Amino acid sequence: MFKGTSAAGHKGWTRVYCVICNAELDLFKAVDEKNVYYCPNCIKNKAEAYFCEAHARNLHYRCPYCRGELKPYYV
Ligand SMILES: [Zn+2]
Ligand SMILES: [Zn+2]
Repeated sequence: MFKGTSAAGHKGWTRVYCVICNAELDLFKAVDEKNVYYCPNCIKNKAEAYFCEAHARNLHYRCPYCRGELKPYYV
């Protein structure tokens, strides 16, 4: 989904939601703040598998869908 894009200049595309608590996550800021986690496997399968920091920690950085490892979002 974000393949080949960079956060700069794509501000409209940087808003996602934690799939657990629906908190709004700003990927643009997350690059600096490292407070957003995502599942690369699920994103590849076009699922919106983003997690806020608290829930990523809560899940022990394991994706609840595919049990893959969650990664901190960065560009
Ligand atoms: Zn959350
Ligand atoms: Zn997953």
